[in-house]
Amino acid sequence: MRKNFIIEPADRVKDLPPYLFATIDKMKAKAVAKGVDLIDLSIGDPDIPTPKHIVERMRKAVTNPAHHQYPSYVGMLSFRQAVADWYKKRFNVKLDAKTEVLSLIGSKEGIGHMPLAFVNPGDYVLVPSPGYPVYPVATLFAGGEVHEMPLLEKNGYLPDLKKIPKKVLNKAKLMFVNYPNNPTAACADKAFYKELINFAVTNNILICHDAAYTEMYYGKEKPLSFLQIPGAKKVGIEFHSLSKTYNMTGWRIGFAAGNREAIAGLGKIKTNIDSGIFQAIQEAGIEALKTKDSDLKKIRTVYRERRDALYRGLKKLGHEVNNPKAAFYLWVKCPKGINSMDFTTLLLNRAGILTTPGNGFGAPGEGYVRFALTVPVKRIEEAIERMSKII
Ligand SMILES: *Cc1c(COP(=O)(O)O)cnc(C)c1O
Repeated sequence: MRKNFIIEPADRVKDLPPYLFATIDKMKAKAVAKGVDLIDLSIGDPDIPTPKHIVERMRKAVTNPAHHQYPSYVGMLSFRQAVADWYKKRFNVKLDAKTEVLSLIGSKEGIGHMPLAFVNPGDYVLVPSPGYPVYPVATLFAGGEVHEMPLLEKNGYLPDLKKIPKKVLNKAKLMFVNYPNNPTAACADKAFYKELINFAVTNNILICHDAAYTEMYYGKEKPLSFLQIPGAKKVGIEFHSLSKTYNMTGWRIGFAAGNREAIAGLGKIKTNIDSGIFQAIQEAGIEALKTKDSDLKKIRTVYRERRDALYRGLKKLGHEVNNPKAAFYLWVKCPKGINSMDFTTLLLNRAGILTTPGNGFGAPGEGYVRFALTVPVKRIEEAIERMSKII
């Protein structure tokens, strides 16, 4: 027997950067322990409860013994059909529920597994930066190489596809894109998606569009689905989530839709790793997808009022900030001479406001801080009041 029993994490774990929100959680715990009346604008987790009709459907579904057994790996056909119906209604996109839709235990799960299905060691995955941290981490877990595509203000926070080096393109397998965007709240137009599809065809790159925020919009113009653009289904899939649209982050349900080979590949990984979503939750998901637009409008109005209060307040204090058309984030430039982490720390220590430093989403996010619209207007006004006293 060895004298010292050592539990040694794998290199892929040791090499991980600290998960951004775990760091934020620690800062938060410290402030709370000190008794700070914290205004938490750091994490994109809706504070509004899940609509009642969805909770009611769950309450009933949970008593059905049929749901107490292993669910189907690919998801109940009735849920996948509800997804297909929703896509038709919302985006006029036709999907075959059997082959072009896959249920996910939240879209994060699908995004996290995608590179395992398609990336060999040494293959490149193109990821937006700043961006959702799961794209690069999932790539590294699969042994892939990450190539960051900077999202810059001067390009409307769209990646400059012409800037990707040839030698990366030759080995590129997947690309992640995400609009409406987290963290910049930028939206993509039809022209961008057309360029993206041409680029994917030319370079044989599978597009993974993360569409978590298409239903969180403020104006008359609704965000697009990547799948609405002709040719999209040939080159990619779209990840979607019930989390943000229906205030269901805790339920863990999402889906992928689009190219059937991509769906089948991802499904194969899932079959071998997880056993699907609790069917009662899938029933609640069917109910969610049938939510009346008037109910969703109410939720959107709440976020719009918050956005207006925060945007106006920050502007009045002289901050440079976008006025987002979609998603629930404000991407705020740091005051001259201080970096993202300093601004975050200043806001926390001097005003009790928790935000997310932009560089936590990737180096090009340096110089920005992300504010999430996850507290009521009253608290946003309080945050602005506190900020007016420190800066
Ligand atoms: C919140 C979020 C997700 C994760 O959604 P889940 O379905 O809850 O896993 C995915 N992508 C982005 C960009 C997000 O902000």
